[in-house]
Amino acid sequence: MAIDTRPRRPEAALIDRLPRQLFIGGHWVDAETDATIETFDPATGQVLTTIPAGTAADVDRAVRAARAAFEDIWRDLNPSARGRCLLRLADLIDENAEELAAIETLDVGKPLTESQYIDMAMTSEVYRYYGGWATKIHGQTLPVSPVVGSAFAYTRREPYGVVGCIVPWNFPFFLTSLKLGPALAAGNTIVLKPAENTSLSSLRLGELIAEAGFPDGVVNIVTGLGREAGQAVAEHPGIDTVSFTGSTATGRGILQASVKTLHPVHLELGGKSPNIVLADANLDDAVQGAFTAIFVNQGQVCCAGSRLYVESSVHEEMVERLAAEAEEIVLGHGLDSDTTMGPLVSRVQQDRVAGYVEAGIAAGATCRTGGGRGEGDLAPGYFYKPTLLTGVRDDMKVAREEIFGPVLSVMSFDDVDEVVRRANDTSYGLAAGIWTQNISKAHRIAHRLQAGTVWINAYNMLDPAAPFGGFKESGFGRDLGEEGLNAYTQTKTVYIGLD
Ligand code: NAD
Repeated sequence: MAIDTRPRRPEAALIDRLPRQLFIGGHWVDAETDATIETFDPATGQVLTTIPAGTAADVDRAVRAARAAFEDIWRDLNPSARGRCLLRLADLIDENAEELAAIETLDVGKPLTESQYIDMAMTSEVYRYYGGWATKIHGQTLPVSPVVGSAFAYTRREPYGVVGCIVPWNFPFFLTSLKLGPALAAGNTIVLKPAENTSLSSLRLGELIAEAGFPDGVVNIVTGLGREAGQAVAEHPGIDTVSFTGSTATGRGILQASVKTLHPVHLELGGKSPNIVLADANLDDAVQGAFTAIFVNQGQVCCAGSRLYVESSVHEEMVERLAAEAEEIVLGHGLDSDTTMGPLVSRVQQDRVAGYVEAGIAAGATCRTGGGRGEGDLAPGYFYKPTLLTGVRDDMKVAREEIFGPVLSVMSFDDVDEVVRRANDTSYGLAAGIWTQNISKAHRIAHRLQAGTVWINAYNMLDPAAPFGGFKESGFGRDLGEEGLNAYTQTKTVYIGLD
């Protein structure tokens, strides 16, 4: 193979100083084998670095360290001290946000402004939110009426123990916080398996965890392949609950693995979310909303509004305005200041997106704009042009399967009952959007949509206080809010006989 002689970006020096080991028991340690995984800058296709390919033996060491930390210190540490560790971590993320955002952009490809104002800004808020919860986790006193005698009873919400966390590559740092924040606040310890192609920010996270004062072994990080390290986390008998975010196909495997050990699992999976524009919507807002719903993070968003249903009388105007906006997008390296859309995460993802668009066109859809890979200087990277497909039928693959790229299928509809039925005609149920100025109509539609989150005159809005998760094959359990915390506690009932 030819040696890559292209100059590296100066920011790649940030990557060189990251630890390239596993973080176990509070120390950076070598993996059991010398096997490594190459990680690429998706904008250039250049190798950024290599990371250890952890194995089942490494996961086992991490589980032991997490168990010891759980039993020896973390579960009995006073809640205020646990909360302070999380609050300190949130502050450290803010203090290092510029560097963390650059690492995320180099590794994932997204524009630096998105890494800064979405990934990093939201991550520190999540740790801060759950840092506050650590002192507010409480049970109830219960008015019990035993058939014999009398008793006082109360409940305690106790941590499970060791939580296995498996996260995907689209928002690596942020999605990790949705698991670590609540699980740590509740007194659990962690074995984290980041996605193999975007593990770099989790290596920096290990350093910040140590700096924030978490005791050794409370958070352990094992990089590695899904089918090895990930599978080992899913199956390990020493793990008390598994929290997984990723594709529905992998989620099924995680659920199957839990049958042997009977540990509970929390699954945040894929989506094919409908975004509905009624003719009475403020069209300026609807165009902007539909645009960001599909093009932020290059469309690699679980809740992306990838099926746009527009009422027929405004359909053509929406399509024209969206196509014009999409043509203004500047593809480029995420670290370049004029870039408004970066590359997809990998060659595999680029091929997958291209395959879907080809299948859509072959099935009769029309490509109004985009529909191709990056050209010229962009060709070595994994770019795909922002794409609008019209003439899409509900039964086409592009309208049914998750593409996970910057590809929007625009369809028209004539009445509300029809669009609700079509919007719900999917195996997924993660999110949905509605654009209208008729607020009672908006609420009525929101109540009929089968989705874990519905946005009205907004899209992709998330807040640490509001639960997020899926209906149907988009998973079960909720991230964020109080429900996100409950996923990491189990209830114990205590009776005291009073006679
Ligand atoms: P993926 O399922 O391929 O991988 C996710 C994680 O699982 C990675 O860390 C991977 O290494 C690991 N993994 C793979 N095979 C495994 C196995 N056999 N056992 C254990 N772990 C294994 O998903 P992806 O391609 O990284 O991410 C994209 C998917 O994630 C999309 O479907 C997207 O919708 C979904 N997602 C969902 C949410 C949500 O909140 N619902 C958020 C982000 C992404």
